[in-house]
Amino acid sequence: MTPSHVLVVGASAAGLATAEALRRKGYRGRLTLLGGELHPPYDRPPLSKQVLAGTRSPDTTRLRTAEVLAALDAELLLGDPAAGLDPGTRTVRTASGRELKPDTVVVATGLRPRSLPGARGAEGVHVLRTLDDALALRSDLLASRRLVVVGEGVLGSEIAATARSMGLDVTLAGPRPAPMLAQFGPLVSGRLAALHTGHGVRLRLGEAVGGLTAARGRVSGVRLDTGEVLPAEVVVVAIGADPATGWLAGSGLSIDDGLLCDSRCRAAEGIYAVGDVAAWHHELFGAPIRLENRTNATEQALAVADNILGADRPYVPVPYFWTDQFDARIQAHGRLGPDAEATVVEGDPATGRFVVRYQRDGRVAGVLGWNMPRQARLRRPEIGRPVLSPEPSAP
Ligand SMILES: Cc1cc2nc3c(=O)[nH]c(=O)nc-3n(C[C@H](O)[C@H](O)[C@H](O)COP(=O)(O)OP(=O)(O)OC[C@H]3O[C@@H](n4cnc5c(N)ncnc54)[C@H](O)[C@@H]3O)c2cc1C
Repeated sequence: MTPSHVLVVGASAAGLATAEALRRKGYRGRLTLLGGELHPPYDRPPLSKQVLAGTRSPDTTRLRTAEVLAALDAELLLGDPAAGLDPGTRTVRTASGRELKPDTVVVATGLRPRSLPGARGAEGVHVLRTLDDALALRSDLLASRRLVVVGEGVLGSEIAATARSMGLDVTLAGPRPAPMLAQFGPLVSGRLAALHTGHGVRLRLGEAVGGLTAARGRVSGVRLDTGEVLPAEVVVVAIGADPATGWLAGSGLSIDDGLLCDSRCRAAEGIYAVGDVAAWHHELFGAPIRLENRTNATEQALAVADNILGADRPYVPVPYFWTDQFDARIQAHGRLGPDAEATVVEGDPATGRFVVRYQRDGRVAGVLGWNMPRQARLRRPEIGRPVLSPEPSAP
C-alpha cells in the first residue's frame, strides 16, 4: 500500500536521496525530512579534503540549492533531532517535543565519531564528521604547526594528507602498521605508506594509542601505550564512528553495529534504514553488512524508495568507495581487505598509476584503481567471477 506520510530521519546524503527518489518515482503524499543539524543537506567527502584545505568554500558543499529543495515539496525540519521512536504506532518524538506520526519512517541518521578516553574538553582536540567540525579544525590548523592524527583508517589518512599539503608538521599514529591496511591489505597500504612518507608525513604506526596529554586546558600530546608522548598542538581523533542509533534505544528494534534490516532494508513494518546507519542482509554475501560510503548512500536510497512504494526487491550492491590523498585518487570496487590476495594487473606502482585485483577462494573479490579510474571500472564486472588465468604481476 502506498504510504500517505513518509518521515525521513536524518537530512543528509542518504535521507535527501531517499526523499528525492520517492518523488521521482511518483510519490505525492506528505514528506518530512527531520535533521539534527541546522545546516541544509550538505556533502561530507569534501570536508576532509578541499574544505579543510580551504580550496572550496563551505557553501559549495550544499547538496541542493534552496530552489531545488523547495521544489521537493517536503517539510524540512532542521536542528531538531529525533529522540525516540515507537515502532508500533510509528511515532517519532523529537528533542524539542514534537510528535510526528507518519505511516513510514526512514532511518538515515548516519554515524557518530568515537572519541578517546580523557580527550573531551581539552582545546585542540578534534573529530571530523560535520561541516562545523571541518571549519573548527581548519581554523585550529591555520594557527598551529604540529598535528597528530590518531587513526590510520581512511579518514585519518586523508586528514593527514590534507594537513601536510597545508604545510603542517604531521604525524599519523595508529595501531596498524600501515595506512588503511584493514581496507586495502599490505600491497596497496605499503604504497600508501610510501606516498605519505614521501610527502613528509611522519608515520608512527603499529603502536596503540593510550590517550592524550594536556596542559593548561589545551592538548599537548598523544600518549602511546609504550609511554612515549608524541607532542602536538592539535590532535584529530579519527578512530572510527558508531551508527547513530542512540535515539532508538528502547524502541525494541534490533541494533547491532547499525539498525538491522532484512534484504529489503526494512527493520520492521513501515520502518526502513538507509546509508551509513543501515546494517542490512546482503543476499550475495549471506550476512548483514553496513557500508560507510557516499555511493552507497545514493544507491541504497533508490532501493529503499522502491521498496517503500511496493517493489519488494533485495538490495545487493557491489560496494564502492574512493579516497583522495596527495596526488592519488584511489577507487575501490568490491570487498577488498587484508585476507584477499592482491595482484597488480595493470599499470605500475612505480609510476603512480595501477590496478590491483583482489581474489578470495578462487574468485575475484574486488578491484582497486590508483589513478586509473577507467581501467578499474572496466574490470568491475569481473567481481564474483572465478579467476580464470593468473595474470602476470606487473613490475
Ligand atoms: C569527512 C568525511 C569524508 C568522507 N569522504 C568520503 C570519500 O572520499 N568517499 C566516500 O565514498 N565516502 C566518504 N565519506 C563517507 C560519506 O560521506 C558517508 O558515507 C555519507 O555521508 C553517508 O550519508 P548518510 O546520509 O548515511 O549519513 P550522514 O551523512 O552522516 O548523515 C546523517 C545525518 O543524520 C543526522 N542525525 C543524526 N542523528 C539524528 C537524529 N537523532 N535525528 C535527526 N537527524 C539526525 C546527522 O546530523 C546527519 O546530518 C566521508 C565522510 C566524512 C565524514
